[in-house]
Amino acid sequence: MKTGSKGRKVNAGIEDNTGAGRAKSRRQGKIRIRTELCKGCKYCVISCPKGVIELNKELNTSGFYTAYALRMEDCSGCAICAKMCPEVAIEVWAD
Ligand code: SF4
Ligand code: SF4
Repeated sequence: MKTGSKGRKVNAGIEDNTGAGRAKSRRQGKIRIRTELCKGCKYCVISCPKGVIELNKELNTSGFYTAYALRMEDCSGCAICAKMCPEVAIEVWAD
């Protein structure tokens, strides 16, 4: 499995970090959105419990308002956004 430069990668469907047993200490997460795949559906924006993701106000070259991490420092690495993304455009890492 490919890993990022920091933390371990939490892919959609590989690990469930949203249910019981969640650690009490706050985890730091990090996401990467592959904007070339993003269709601007906003599922990730709506589903993120921390309000980390927003849509760009400008269209990309394909005509979509793509998602980006506005408040990366608030990301917990829960990977809900990645699970919701129909384009599999989001990668998540968590410490
Ligand atoms: S991993 Fe969780 S907290 Fe981080 S952006 Fe995705 S849904 Fe939000
Ligand atoms: S869920 Fe995926 S395709 Fe939809 S806006 Fe977010 S990153 Fe883009």
